[in-house]
Amino acid sequence: ADSWKADRTDLGPRMVKKALYTFVKPEEKPDAELYAVSPQAMRDIGLQSGEEQTDDFKKLVSGNKIWWDPDTGNGIYPWAQCYGGWQFGSWAGQLGDGRAISLFESTNPATKQRYEIQLKGAGITPYSRFADGKAVVRSSVREFVVSEALNGLGIPTTRALSLVLSRETRVARERMEPAAIVCRFAQSWIRIGTFDLLRARGDRVNMRRLSDYVANHVFSGWDTFSSHPLAAPPKSFEVDKDAPSLETPLHLNRYAKLYRHIALQNAKTVAAWQAYGFTNGVLNTDNTSIFGLSLDFGPFAFIDNFDPNYTPNHDDHMLRYSYRNQPSIIWWNLVRLGEDMGELIGSGPRVDDDEFVNKGVGSDWAAELIARAEQVIACVGSEYQETFLAEYKRLMTAKLGLKSQKESDFTALFSSLLDTLESLELDFSHFFRRLSTLPLREIDTEKKREQKASIFFHDEGISATGETETSGREKVAAWLQLWRERILEDWASEAPDGYETLAFEEERQTGMKSVNPKFVARGWVLDEVIQKVEHQHDKDVLRRIMRMASNPFQDTWGQTEEERKEEERWCGEVPRM
Ligand code: AMP
Ligand code: MG
Ligand code: MG
Repeated sequence: ADSWKADRTDLGPRMVKKALYTFVKPEEKPDAELYAVSPQAMRDIGLQSGEEQTDDFKKLVSGNKIWWDPDTGNGIYPWAQCYGGWQFGSWAGQLGDGRAISLFESTNPATKQRYEIQLKGAGITPYSRFADGKAVVRSSVREFVVSEALNGLGIPTTRALSLVLSRETRVARERMEPAAIVCRFAQSWIRIGTFDLLRARGDRVNMRRLSDYVANHVFSGWDTFSSHPLAAPPKSFEVDKDAPSLETPLHLNRYAKLYRHIALQNAKTVAAWQAYGFTNGVLNTDNTSIFGLSLDFGPFAFIDNFDPNYTPNHDDHMLRYSYRNQPSIIWWNLVRLGEDMGELIGSGPRVDDDEFVNKGVGSDWAAELIARAEQVIACVGSEYQETFLAEYKRLMTAKLGLKSQKESDFTALFSSLLDTLESLELDFSHFFRRLSTLPLREIDTEKKREQKASIFFHDEGISATGETETSGREKVAAWLQLWRERILEDWASEAPDGYETLAFEEERQTGMKSVNPKFVARGWVLDEVIQKVEHQHDKDVLRRIMRMASNPFQDTWGQTEEERKEEERWCGEVPRM
């Protein structure tokens, strides 16, 4: 047996040289208590309901057991990943899993999906730097719920399996708090920051190995990447006069295809964030997944009142990670990835030459490769933009109950709606859910529309002055008229009973409800749950919120009157401070 694996010595912060991970064992927490699991996550990973009650499960998700036998050395020893990152636009150097430890990989036998299982808050690692490797209840409940909420909305994300508390482990934050551990899993925990670190080290051998690993192990092999020719470079892209001239079509070697694949997966995920009003808050490259997953849940929030400049991150004074900047900042991060992989991407058909690894970093040859890679990156950039827009339009079209897209919808319907929501400070998610069940016959006259407009306003009305309220209603009513016309144009022609009976209404409403959630995991609801878990030792509240987060499009969830009352409150108005 490898004795160096057997304990937790030598975990002090250090700079790692040639590796991207370190073997490290979770800290044991004898008093750890399982508070909740996500039933959907259990299913997705291939576990039966009830298995969370087994001793093995409880020990594994608390960090009290590892899948490795010290006597034989059989099994898998846990590890922490090493990565770097660009934080708020500056290179931050080596970061790494400071409080996350991966346990093993597991493949769901039915779906064949493979996941890397990881504990967050499991103790210090060589990457903990100045911190303690622990997580508090607050951040853990937030991650536990939002991971499953995003998945419930159909947004690619890392997942959360369980939440464990250790009250005896006191964590010093603003005050002394109990510790918590989230067991989470993902197709991959590799980030753009993982590639960034290798570039900073000048480690081109491992850059190639990491790229190969990602293509073969994280994705399903090189053959799975599209080989359609790259779109022409965007007009704004001016080729440097010293750069080699652009070949057409641009030669795409396998690394360029991998890069494009990663970029386009991310484009779709950001589009979904925008369509559901989700803001991550800290989109540094170490928090940007190479699998296009929503990753790292710190100060995240779903938007309440629509505001494109909204950021949940109070330290982000430049609004770098605001709602409206998310698509462009993810692209900024992807350009870093393109530069990291630059020599591989730019080596074109010569990528397999031994020459590649033998020539030095910084040689003229390498510079030429980087210049060629820049051309590829620019072209992938225009595909990123196209993919983002197509996915965003697809989602918005569905959210508005339309079956087909018209070029004019983008400005006439989407933008004008967002302008209206912004100027009247209306709630983003509530608007779409309420619109879903608004019968067309209740808005078929100007007067009815102005009356109905009030369902979108906050309880208190929009403004202290009656006058503003009237003009606000007129604005909403005018938009409702546009929307009604589009719905009729889109649906009535196909309705067998014709236009008059509005026979399609039920289908239209059901369809809209299936894409516009009733429940959104808002900050204030999470705060309430955190209070109950931390101070009242309440476990059932986690079961109730998880049920809603995992199935956000339902109308109701619980059976008792009390549960229904809580649900309505959690789906209702944001309490005013
Ligand atoms: P984040 O802001 O969550 O993306 O974290 C940035 C870096 O700080 C990552 O490398 C984390 O692993 C590390 N980190 C954050 N909190 C802790 C903690 N309590 N203990 C150790 N490392 C931490
Ligand atoms: Mg992070
Ligand atoms: Mg974090």
